[in-house]
Amino acid sequence: MTSPQHHDIVVIGAGIAGSSIANELLERGQTVCILDSASHPASACSSHAYAIAHPHVGRGAPRLLRLTRIAFLMAEARWGKRWNQHGIFQPNKKDKVFNRDDVSDYLQSLNLDEGLAQALYANEAMEACGISQDGIWLPRGASLDLFEATQDALSPNPKLTCRWNTSVARLEKAPAGWRLIDPQGITIMTANKVIIAAALETKNLAASIDVRLPLRPVRGQLSIFSINKHSSWVPKLPRTAISGDGYCLPAKKLPDGSYQWIVGSSFDEGESDLQDWDTSDDFNREQAKGLLDYEEGDVSHLQKSGSFVGVRCVAGDRLPIIGALTQRPGIFLATALGSRGILWSALAAKLIASQVLEDDFALLARLGFAADLVAALAPARFFAGALAAAPALGAFASNSKPILPSAPKAR
Ligand SMILES: Cc1cc2nc3c(=O)[nH]c(=O)nc-3n(C[C@H](O)[C@H](O)[C@H](O)COP(=O)(O)OP(=O)(O)OC[C@H]3O[C@@H](n4cnc5c(N)ncnc54)[C@H](O)[C@@H]3O)c2cc1C
Repeated sequence: MTSPQHHDIVVIGAGIAGSSIANELLERGQTVCILDSASHPASACSSHAYAIAHPHVGRGAPRLLRLTRIAFLMAEARWGKRWNQHGIFQPNKKDKVFNRDDVSDYLQSLNLDEGLAQALYANEAMEACGISQDGIWLPRGASLDLFEATQDALSPNPKLTCRWNTSVARLEKAPAGWRLIDPQGITIMTANKVIIAAALETKNLAASIDVRLPLRPVRGQLSIFSINKHSSWVPKLPRTAISGDGYCLPAKKLPDGSYQWIVGSSFDEGESDLQDWDTSDDFNREQAKGLLDYEEGDVSHLQKSGSFVGVRCVAGDRLPIIGALTQRPGIFLATALGSRGILWSALAAKLIASQVLEDDFALLARLGFAADLVAALAPARFFAGALAAAPALGAFASNSKPILPSAPKAR
């Protein structure tokens, strides 16, 4: 009987997270094997063709603000020709007073210069991007087709092995490294270092080595609307993306004069149904009115012509889980990307590659990571108490009550 193949580095999951990490490791001269239970990359949540990216500019959550700024710059640098920069406008919330100078000062305090974010009154916003609302204009905001980006990241490379239709059911400690075992109990391969980027399935794989992760599904549906050229919506349709309560892409004029407009997303906590829901389209129609500040708009003009449904994976504290699983040497996690797959995958690529290759911390610091940010993403944040008290195998605390918002919220 031949012994199973051995690899130095294996990545489980070929979505945008796993493929970005594999790509970064290849660029750094490593030999990588990536495997996925599907027959091709980006079969799950990363089949999303209409994702947007911008640094977070809301109030509060200072670590999130710092992290999204760094991650945005990394994503912009990473995706080059795939990066579709059209700008993104973030309208001021209707119940909040908007003072442009105060907001400008605030943006400066976040290290967001005018090239990244500008506070504008409605008349200025109209001139800058055609939206007549007070708010923040993010001229470098962009969209990315996650499916294409994932395929690109895994384009043929002599140092890359791809194994499709290969499902990992559990992990087991091997004399050197880790054993990857399939649902029939057969060892698929062994590896020195295993990066788990399997979205929600990361929970089961981590559980197989006695690590409990507070991961939950959040279903989302994006609607593709078709709008007749004579509709009263036509003069209101945006030429830029808008991100607020939900988001939309710039409307696209089709050869017959009608418009295609993508609006999302619904947000269903704890749901993982991939069927299309009419109620989600209705929800998105209401969001469309809010995004354009067009409350009197007749939503029956927003005719559904398609949709994207996906299941986001989120952690209890809403930050991604990215980093070495220090209590299981050789295992690394990149999951819980939530609604920020573009930003967090770019950041995961740099952070995980540095940790896998054991770069010194100075390199991470040069990329903008302070120690507190690395700690905020680390899997260990869920086990700190348990680790200190009982570091033995199987004695890890589960975050049994993750903090999840109760009301539906869109992104
Ligand atoms: C409606 C909606 C709108 C969104 N909008 C945006 C947006 O505007 N901007 C943005 O940045 N993000 C957005 N996102 C989020 C983004 O799509 C996700 O964060 C991202 O795709 C997650 O990537 P991933 O690689 O972690 O997971 P996935 O793409 O789900 O990849 C996980 C992979 O692991 C594989 N796998 C799982 N288990 C196993 C196993 N046991 N063995 C082998 N392989 C396995 C799966 O087959 C899959 O290919 C949105 C998501 C939704 C649903």
